[in-house]
Amino acid sequence: MKCPCSSGKPYEECCKPFHQGTLPTTALQLMRSRYSAYALNLPDYLIATTHPQNSNYNKNTEAWRESLTQFSLNTTFHRLEILDFKEKKSHATVKFTAYLSQQGRDATFTEESAFETIEGRWLYKSGLISR
Ligand SMILES: [Zn+2]
Repeated sequence: MKCPCSSGKPYEECCKPFHQGTLPTTALQLMRSRYSAYALNLPDYLIATTHPQNSNYNKNTEAWRESLTQFSLNTTFHRLEILDFKEKKSHATVKFTAYLSQQGRDATFTEESAFETIEGRWLYKSGLISR
């Protein structure tokens, strides 16, 4: 199976190691692996890679996991396009377009995501959507 993150590589050689516990060394790897995790319905990975200061951070892990799962199951993940990537020490931004649809309707969006490391782990901190 090709990796859902549109790298063109097999999943095993792309995002799978991250989903299984290998730490991404760049924020771009983390971003791609989060997209793949949405596509493959891996809510625990999404939760584990969200910064505690993110506005979607939810201490109610059960409810959070449920809403992530609903999103994954109700969405078709067509492809990911990376538009820009900047990384400086513990901070990074990735601008991307996620090509999605929901119940046959286009749900594509472009976002600039901010990432920050805590104790060497890249985490998703915030996102600014520009449709
Ligand atoms: Zn991938």
